[in-house]
Amino acid sequence: MGLWRKIRKTGRVAEPAPERAPGEVPQPELRGSVQIRHVDAGSCNGCEVEIASAFGPVYDAERYGARLVASPRHADALLVTGPVTRNMEMALRRTHEAVPRPCLVIALGDCARDCGAFAGAYGVAGAVGDVVPVDVEVPGCPPEPEAIVAALRGLTGR
Ligand code: SF4
Repeated sequence: MGLWRKIRKTGRVAEPAPERAPGEVPQPELRGSVQIRHVDAGSCNGCEVEIASAFGPVYDAERYGARLVASPRHADALLVTGPVTRNMEMALRRTHEAVPRPCLVIALGDCARDCGAFAGAYGVAGAVGDVVPVDVEVPGCPPEPEAIVAALRGLTGR
């Protein structure tokens, strides 16, 4: 009973919905529900903290139809973070091949977009766009959860 009273007193804690990213939904077939496989291609893990926050109870990206899945074979989109390291280049290519078509690719964070702070490092093969075709970019180092949710809303159209 104490827990129930606390829940009632606390109320809803989710942040107000951030605006949807402007523009058309890139794949109309996926409107309403996009299953996402996350790939860390060489991130410092800063972007992962923000992804966890975007899918946590406060920002709750799932309420807009975006959901993280464990297998690329169950996914509609790849959410890729970090510059692509040499060790992850082939893994990213194969993961992309394993996703049923149409497959969207989101490059999340400055490292994914243009290698960011790691540009020119000996272990870096390139940006995500150098390895697989990118549909959506989310800038920031790291991007804030609001920006991640807004980008995901742009994919689902919700
Ligand atoms: S964009 Fe920033 S937070 Fe994200 S992986 Fe690169 S250095 Fe880390």
